[in-house]
Amino acid sequence: MHIVGLTGGIGSGKSMAALFFKELNVPVIDLDDIAKEITTKNNEGYNEIVKKFGVRYLNDKKEINRYLIKAEIFNDPKLKKEFEQLIHPLIYTACLNQIDNFHTQTYLILIVPLLFETKTYLGLIQESLLIDCKISTQKERVCSRDKLDSKLIDKIIASQLERSERQEKADNIITNDGSVDELKQKIKIFHDNIIKRLQND
Ligand code: ADP
Repeated sequence: MHIVGLTGGIGSGKSMAALFFKELNVPVIDLDDIAKEITTKNNEGYNEIVKKFGVRYLNDKKEINRYLIKAEIFNDPKLKKEFEQLIHPLIYTACLNQIDNFHTQTYLILIVPLLFETKTYLGLIQESLLIDCKISTQKERVCSRDKLDSKLIDKIIASQLERSERQEKADNIITNDGSVDELKQKIKIFHDNIIKRLQND
């Protein structure tokens, strides 16, 4: 199974790119989706968080308050580590299980937002694909998508690898500073190329 690790900074367009891969019938595994799933009420990650922190991170409906966690961990590196130690092994196991389900496919896209930062998933992938855009574009997109405080967006961006380092490490780069349609076309070209490459292998 050939796995392409799709990465990029927050708001670069990873989910949008993934949508276009799905339209081409390429399976997509998204670590953010897995994280959400396992921290949904009464799932494994949810139970671990409640075991460790009590009701501190639950809202009125007893669901995980993701915004609160995000806001706190980017101000507290120790807490960030505690959450990561709790949740990351669960995400990794769930990811391996999902990969297993797709073993008959030519290739799959694995979205790993922090592919080059955490390195955990580098051993699972055969090549990386960076969705890249200007930092100002990232900020504008996240601002309108998540309605996050601009200082928090700056902190999240600062916690991620620098744009130039990501560009250096990536095997493939798709620039997403233009229209949605341009992104779609670039994904199609990447897809056609990889299919051709894999057929010749
Ligand atoms: P990521 O998954 O990398 O955080 P998203 O794919 O969610 O980023 O994109 C961030 C926001 O920007 C979303 O609201 C998305 O619809 C929008 N977006 C992504 N690419 C483009 C584009 N080329 N033109 C306009 N808006 C875009």
